[in-house]
Amino acid sequence: MANTPYPESYYAASANPVPARPALQDDVETDVCVIGAGYTGLSSALFLLENGFKVTVLEAAKVGFGASGRNGGQIVNSYSRDIDVIERSVGPQQAQLLGNMAFEGGRIIRERVAKYQIQCDLKDGGVFAALTAKQMGHLESQKRLWERFGHTQLELLDQRRIREVVACEEYVGGMLDMSGGHIHPLNLALGEAAAVESLGGVIYEQSPAVRIERGASPVVHTPQGKVRAKFIIVAGNAYLGNLVPELAAKSMPCGTQVIATEPLGDEFAHSLLPQDYCVEDCNYLLDYYRLTGDKRLIFGGGVVYGARDPANIEAIIRPKMLKAFPQLKDVKIDYAWTGNFLLTLSRLPQVGRLGDNIYYSQGCSGHGVTYTHLAGKVLAEALRGQAERFDAFADLPHYPFPGGQLLRTPFAAMGAWYYGLRDKLGF
Ligand SMILES: Cc1cc2nc3c(=O)[nH]c(=O)nc-3n(C[C@H](O)[C@H](O)[C@H](O)COP(=O)(O)OP(=O)(O)OC[C@H]3O[C@@H](n4cnc5c(N)ncnc54)[C@H](O)[C@@H]3O)c2cc1C
Repeated sequence: MANTPYPESYYAASANPVPARPALQDDVETDVCVIGAGYTGLSSALFLLENGFKVTVLEAAKVGFGASGRNGGQIVNSYSRDIDVIERSVGPQQAQLLGNMAFEGGRIIRERVAKYQIQCDLKDGGVFAALTAKQMGHLESQKRLWERFGHTQLELLDQRRIREVVACEEYVGGMLDMSGGHIHPLNLALGEAAAVESLGGVIYEQSPAVRIERGASPVVHTPQGKVRAKFIIVAGNAYLGNLVPELAAKSMPCGTQVIATEPLGDEFAHSLLPQDYCVEDCNYLLDYYRLTGDKRLIFGGGVVYGARDPANIEAIIRPKMLKAFPQLKDVKIDYAWTGNFLLTLSRLPQVGRLGDNIYYSQGCSGHGVTYTHLAGKVLAEALRGQAERFDAFADLPHYPFPGGQLLRTPFAAMGAWYYGLRDKLGF
């Protein structure tokens, strides 16, 4: 059977040691079979185990093989579409529930790191950087909006203040969220997997779910074994393929790329980001960056609709990095990699239940590090019969991409081109 390794990345190269995990070669029974060992699957597994469920996790490749082990590492609160947009779409009551939860994922990550002593270079503080006065105006209204839902660790930064936290001449201002921050994403996933196992959960790697036999007592088949369960949680996100055809029509895998410089040394790194906050700009096609534990700059940006792997990642991302930080012109790029996230048309997560016993959460459309941790808690609550918060997500409307599976990629790329042009022209 194929043994899929981690793709080459800074994260794979600096991963904490991990135990060898077997492939499933047997027939097993469990309470909950989780498909996918990214943050959604691992967070679900942990909450379920903490509440007395027996849990088996099937991972097609390795723990954190997908977006959870490749991302920018930015703990960004709220959703990829903000609460005011949700409020206009679904009304104040549902928006209130979702707004109350908008900062919970970041708290869950910190609780997990503290409780299970996960070594993942956790740092507090994230900056949203405005490139135009219009974007600054948006941050001002976003701060008011988030404060309306009780999220208050926010500070607006004028042009002078933002220069104190990031040595980039492009920004007119920004907003600092001290409940944001950053992590080594693969090490967070690996630490969560170890926590799952410490509570008696079982994780099989190199064990793709290839078929789900639905019914009162569903069975998940892998190439060499099967898992009979009371419940299934589908957490394969952009890597799921067509395992659950109902989910594929309303979401689209997209690629995004990241580079890591050589280590910059303490002094140079400090001159770029003196407080070690992470930064993302406010463009629709945004750039994001941060320092690693060993003082490299990790810089990400760009989207490939339909998730084709670009031939030369450095050629795409390095110019963006040099635009923000010309002072890095002589710095070598040590790693470049790509990963897939799952886009929905509304850019809100796709959450729900198929029949009585198959649950899913996917498609957080870019900002998923915090949401996926919340999703695990909300799914576990639903399996315990407390579905109010689950329903708040499940009731969000979702529509198929125009053009169906054949034309959705060019249509979405056209939409992104339009928004990218708006970013460039500043309107
Ligand atoms: C390059 C990149 C940068 C990003 N940067 C950020 C960021 O800085 N901040 C932020 O908030 N978000 C970011 N995101 C988004 C964030 O990483 C994701 O939203 C989040 O990690 C999704 O987690 P997940 O568990 O749902 O999916 P994934 O982490 O993709 O995990 C899905 C897992 O399921 C497995 N799987 C799939 N199908 C099967 C199957 N049939 N059987 C068994 N296993 C299966 C896959 O192998 C994979 O391991 C980024 C994404 C990418 C790609």
